[in-house]
Amino acid sequence: MNKKNNTKHVEKELTLFLEGELSDAEHQHIQSHLASCERCGQALRELERLPRVLQAFGEIEPSETMFDEIEAQIAQRSQRRFARRKLAWKIGLQFVSVVLIV
Ligand SMILES: [Zn+2]
Repeated sequence: MNKKNNTKHVEKELTLFLEGELSDAEHQHIQSHLASCERCGQALRELERLPRVLQAFGEIEPSETMFDEIEAQIAQRSQRRFARRKLAWKIGLQFVSVVLIV
């Protein structure tokens, strides 16, 4: 394998790297690059520190009401889906009973 220093930097992929969104090969590539590249290693440390920095500001920290809102939205959406499914069931059952009667 070619492991020269002219491989391009992986700073842009670091977010995906941290979120585990990369394939094994890509993950390994970045890991080996990080081991030999001071610049990208530094970038990774910055990224890892970021959530804590944001939390320190207090603004980004998810609030209770935010969770409630998200929960309400999810509930609303799934209720609507459930209602639609219930309707489909009703129609289906009516169809079946009609067929059975006939
Ligand atoms: Zn690099």
